[in-house]
Amino acid sequence: MSQEKQQFYRHLQRAGLKRTAQRDLIVDIFLHTEDHLSSEDLYRVVKEQDASIGQTTIYRTLKLLVEAGLASEVRFGDGRSRYEPNNKFPHHDHLICTNCNHTIEFYSAELKAMLESIAAAHNFHPTEQSLRIFGLCAACAVDAASDSPPAINKSSAPGAFGIAK
Ligand SMILES: [Zn+2]
Ligand SMILES: [Zn+2]
Repeated sequence: MSQEKQQFYRHLQRAGLKRTAQRDLIVDIFLHTEDHLSSEDLYRVVKEQDASIGQTTIYRTLKLLVEAGLASEVRFGDGRSRYEPNNKFPHHDHLICTNCNHTIEFYSAELKAMLESIAAAHNFHPTEQSLRIFGLCAACAVDAASDSPPAINKSSAPGAFGIAK
């Protein structure tokens, strides 16, 4: 059994919950994802393998994964919570395209050191930090520069165009 799954079962035990085949499947699929999945996204993937699993079970299992320290909730400004496994790489930040929702992950040791020194300068003790850069991905930037008007995605970041209603 992988270290992550052992960690998950230890958490289940502490929470007084049982190990079930459904939770097993959800955790397996989630831990192998490369993506940032919302509860609905994960539901769609899981349903293909076991149609009897409900959306509530998926949602609760995601919360358990976060509590167990195996998943992080990430928000990309469209009001949806997405989740990613913590085992991908230790810490990373995101570039988010507000047109097509494509996300790019990056890690910068320099950035991390800089944020830590800013916090230290303010005598602030950070518990976590995340940086999100909103804009257009390369493909959408090309579209925007061409003659055809770019398609505006309704789910783009609130206030991205300067007006929050
Ligand atoms: Zn894009
Ligand atoms: Zn990520």
